[in-house]
Amino acid sequence: MTGSPAPDLRPPVSPAPPGWDPYLDRYAVRAAGLTSSEIRSLFTVVSRPEVVSLAGGLPDLTGLPLDALAAEAARLIAQDGLSALQYTSAHGLPKLRGQICDVMKLEGITAHPDDVVVSVGSQMGLDLITRLFCDPGDVVVAEGPSYVGALGCFAAYQAQVAHVAMDEHGLVPESLRTTLRRVQAAGRRVKFLYTIPNFHNPSGVTLAVERRAEIVEICRAYGVLVVEDNPYGMLGFDGQTYPALRSLDQDNVVYLGSFSKTFAPGLRVGWVLSPAAIREKLTLAMESAILCPPTLNQLIVSRYLSSHDWQGQIDVFRENYRRRRDAMLAALEEYLPPGCTWTVPDGGFFVWVTVPEGVDTKALLPRALDAQVAYASGSGFFTDGSGARQMRLSFCYPTPERIHEGVRRVAAVLRSAL
Ligand code: PMP
Repeated sequence: MTGSPAPDLRPPVSPAPPGWDPYLDRYAVRAAGLTSSEIRSLFTVVSRPEVVSLAGGLPDLTGLPLDALAAEAARLIAQDGLSALQYTSAHGLPKLRGQICDVMKLEGITAHPDDVVVSVGSQMGLDLITRLFCDPGDVVVAEGPSYVGALGCFAAYQAQVAHVAMDEHGLVPESLRTTLRRVQAAGRRVKFLYTIPNFHNPSGVTLAVERRAEIVEICRAYGVLVVEDNPYGMLGFDGQTYPALRSLDQDNVVYLGSFSKTFAPGLRVGWVLSPAAIREKLTLAMESAILCPPTLNQLIVSRYLSSHDWQGQIDVFRENYRRRRDAMLAALEEYLPPGCTWTVPDGGFFVWVTVPEGVDTKALLPRALDAQVAYASGSGFFTDGSGARQMRLSFCYPTPERIHEGVRRVAAVLRSAL
């Protein structure tokens, strides 16, 4: 062998002109629903250290006991590697499914482990539920605003979204009734209500406990399934949890849960608690999509739940997020120009800001990026063109000092637009 490296004979890759796609006439029709969200497009810009990003929703993991977790993962492979690295059932590991039932008890849910299907994050649970229920043109009813990742999922299955109004107490039952009536009167089929009752993404609002039974009853009366998405429910700043919609109706509510915000999103372990009648189809859908959820990651979560003080760890997360929420609210109070209003979340990651008439948060975003700050403009959280005067500010990831500076920059940009 000589020391000189072999020449690289691969043809040079020339960048495709923007917007040009040689596969355009070969995609399935539903591929048209796959479009990039603004937040994803911002990802490269907001990764620059000089930019304060109030746009993303990454959990802050700095409090995790990394050494103990590393030792646990090593032990799992050393002691049980042959099963930890093997395929397992599409349904998920039985022990973990039992532990998930114990977690859900904290929100008043009594469930049988057989009705839990482990998923790759709750996002996958939502994808499979949409796959099972939505044909192109079917309608999903969701709060306006709603979670971008859910809107993307519905678009991918060519389902249409009808938004329901929210106020400071969450989804408005009367608006739900009116929307269901209107859509059904137009001869369209509503397949489910998708709702985030606790510490809503993006609004930060929590559904009033008095409204919960009414919402469940309305959906039942209209023959509409409820899909309850609850990744933030354990992150109430005063430690309070709220009764899940699922605890009020076992037969008509699908509950989506996740360890992404209470433990670690990179493990991609979430779950679906389905009505018993759906479980079989859901498990088959899981099998057809991925054969089984990752065995090692399920074991890591299971060991974490059985041998760590996971609730104590959630207290640490909660306290961290509470300090950041306080920093954001104080900065909004100090800097935002008159005419701006915002929600005051009791938990979770987000504040929802409404700016004065005449300001368009999407049009203003390039100026914000020039000023080294990013937010998520409101229109991305609606499918009907609303949200021009709104923005989501996340307090989950930056330090309180960076949050303070970020809000100061947002306020300066807003003032320049008034
Ligand atoms: N639902 C909501 C409301 C979310 O905010 C998120 C994550 N940002 C998800 C679901 C997806 O979470 P997971 O990591 O469990 O897939």
